[in-house]
Amino acid sequence: MAHFTCEVVYRGIFQKNLAARICRGIVLSSRKAGRWGIAFGRYGDSPQRNGIPAKDFAIVADTQEELEQNMARYEPKEVDVTICVDDTLSKGVESWAWYGLQPINRLTVPNGTVLMTSLQSPADLLKDIHKKEAPYNLALIPAKASFSGLWVYKEDHTEARILGALAKLQPGFLSLDAVCAAIQEAEWGSELKAASARKAHDRLETRPVKSTEGNRETPFSFEKPKWWEMREGVTIPAIPVGKPMEDGKGYVPERNPYFKKFATRTMRPVIDFDKCVKCTLCWIQCPDSCFDVTPEGLYDANMESCCGCGVCEAVCPAKECVTMVSEAAFEDNASQWEMWRKDKGAYQTWMTNKIHSKEHITRSHGFRFRGQYDQEIKQDLDQGGIDITAGIPGENAAGKQR
Ligand code: SF4
Ligand code: SF4
Repeated sequence: MAHFTCEVVYRGIFQKNLAARICRGIVLSSRKAGRWGIAFGRYGDSPQRNGIPAKDFAIVADTQEELEQNMARYEPKEVDVTICVDDTLSKGVESWAWYGLQPINRLTVPNGTVLMTSLQSPADLLKDIHKKEAPYNLALIPAKASFSGLWVYKEDHTEARILGALAKLQPGFLSLDAVCAAIQEAEWGSELKAASARKAHDRLETRPVKSTEGNRETPFSFEKPKWWEMREGVTIPAIPVGKPMEDGKGYVPERNPYFKKFATRTMRPVIDFDKCVKCTLCWIQCPDSCFDVTPEGLYDANMESCCGCGVCEAVCPAKECVTMVSEAAFEDNASQWEMWRKDKGAYQTWMTNKIHSKEHITRSHGFRFRGQYDQEIKQDLDQGGIDITAGIPGENAAGKQR
């Protein structure tokens, strides 16, 4: 008797359907291979919110009895494969129900695998992925994050490629033939998608990660309130008033210490302080009160509070003053304004490099305006079409020409 367990860590709403398809595909493939399977979402993540990390699980077992035995627990405490379909989650998972940051590899068993879609190198990803006490493997499918959720489904074959890769990682449970047969029979499947699964299976590269490798930072955490510390009734305390910044000038608002910190973010704002016209719109509109008012009257987005919603970019009236850039391009949460104040020339160079990186790893949640998906496909094709069409080169192009 044997079983295999995996989790799919995804961005709530944005990747909801993608994660569901992956887990459903695992179950259908396991049945094709004569095994038993089940998929389910993490209960605590049910009230899904845009971008909040969430998890689905899939279990495959040799027998029905073994499957039932594995289901007799709240959720898996360890998994053979952690599937991550947005590489900014390599910085850690702070889900709806989680009080702090959970390293992406936290549930991965020793010598298990973290399977990710990413255009980053393993070395770059390991700057973010927290160090783990036991060795494990990092398997990469070259692709940018697919935001295939409720609003827009990007038929970029990500689900098929993950399933093909999984067949390579767990051949004892999911044969490639079974995966391809299940894909072709699924309501979203096709022969082209099965071909994508085969390609991902053949090309998947896996790199062993030693217990000495990875980000050494201690993940952010805070104490859960004890039951006797909770107050009667439902009360939401107001956020305390902030304080002046320097010599009584400027203003730093207080922030909710319990609010999600970093892991909700797939993008962050980069601000060109030389272009700011001090209109205050970003400060007024930011839903998380992120902006510190600097002594010069500029606005510095505090990265310990920013959820990456992009409202500041949308409301800023100054051209190219606020630019949302992929979170994958950053390794710390330092103040941009402090950097600008210290050396304006160096800041310009840093900022230009960061904004330039956007061209390579553009991220979008696919719901900001009607027609955005079409526009993105065209842009990708204009740039060579490698990212979105990575499953079957030219396939999306052909689709768009019809
Ligand atoms: S992206 Fe901008 S508006 Fe949104 S939370 Fe961050 S600083 Fe605030
Ligand atoms: S919205 Fe733009 S121009 Fe206005 S204060 Fe904020 S950064 Fe400056």
